Amino acid sequence: MKIEKIIAKKPYLIAGPCSGESEFQMLKIAHEIKETSDVFRAGVWKPRTSPGSFEGVGEIALKWLQKVQSETGLKVITEVATANHVNLCLEAGIDMLWIGARTTVNPFYIQEISEALKGVDIPVFVKNPIHPEMGLWLGALERLNKAGVNKLAAIHRGFYNYKESAFRNDPKWEMPIKLRKEVRNLPIICDPSHIAGKASLIEDVSQTAMDINLDGLMIETHNNPSKALSDAQQQISPKELKNILNNLIFRDAKLRDEAFKDELLEFRNQIDLLDHQIIELLNDRKKIVEIIANFKNKNKLTIFQIERWFEILKSRKSSAHTLKLDSQMVAEIFELIHKYSILTQTKIMR
Ligand code: PEP
Ligand code: MN
Repeated sequence: MKIEKIIAKKPYLIAGPCSGESEFQMLKIAHEIKETSDVFRAGVWKPRTSPGSFEGVGEIALKWLQKVQSETGLKVITEVATANHVNLCLEAGIDMLWIGARTTVNPFYIQEISEALKGVDIPVFVKNPIHPEMGLWLGALERLNKAGVNKLAAIHRGFYNYKESAFRNDPKWEMPIKLRKEVRNLPIICDPSHIAGKASLIEDVSQTAMDINLDGLMIETHNNPSKALSDAQQQISPKELKNILNNLIFRDAKLRDEAFKDELLEFRNQIDLLDHQIIELLNDRKKIVEIIANFKNKNKLTIFQIERWFEILKSRKSSAHTLKLDSQMVAEIFELIHKYSILTQTKIMR
């Protein structure tokens, strides 16, 4: 992908309300965040799960965004989901656009938006799709890039949660890391507001985003969070935004001190060694699985016995617990090991 640089400083900060509610609200927030932020955000058309929810004030808010531009000097960004939204934003001189999670999932929408953006030199931020499908996220970025949009960035806003969780959307940090590996020079911004779902967790999520070296943050900020017409629980005040930014610790991606470099290398060598030992153990395990498969084959036994699987899971989780290892992590690893063990057996028994 041909990506043109749009982010000059790190962390790049986009702040502003979930929804633009009134001219007063938008200008009040914009004035209070202008020193700390690079870009002012406000949703104009809101994609809501239920039709009864507040769906944004619509086109009129584009005028308020223009006022934010002229009064504060901030760049402004809003969400587009159709070619019509794009055209209205371009006419209004909106500086940047973002594509929401519910739009990234649909290649028809992305194609329509891409075509409306042909020949236009404007930065576009693509949020991850609701479900953790890397292909859709990458596909949307590629589709826009093919239409000539070079000023691209991704926004990591978390993924639909299948399990009970502290987060509204599962961060799945491995996804932005994977995206970074796929498109090396693509800026990735974290949206801690939609990951957290509640104000109290935003600082923690933002810190993790900085620790894995993401390029910036998009944080929903409201003058009166508890009265917000959308996403009230996760919005924070401009003052809270300042506090979070002051508390964040920025670490270096590169070690400059030679002495520390040697020390780190030493630890990395130990990790390499342990990882190879894990692979050897997996291979030993696989050999035993093959013996078991041959035994089951001879004795006409089914491959999968549910009681045995429950027993494995229980005992592995309990040893993890004894060692104070995350037992959920250990359970997930063994689910994978077990999945491949079944595959090995089906190959032998066929
Ligand atoms: C938003 O940013 O307000 C929004 C609707 O986000 P998402 O598409 O991530 O749900
Ligand atoms: Mn929101």
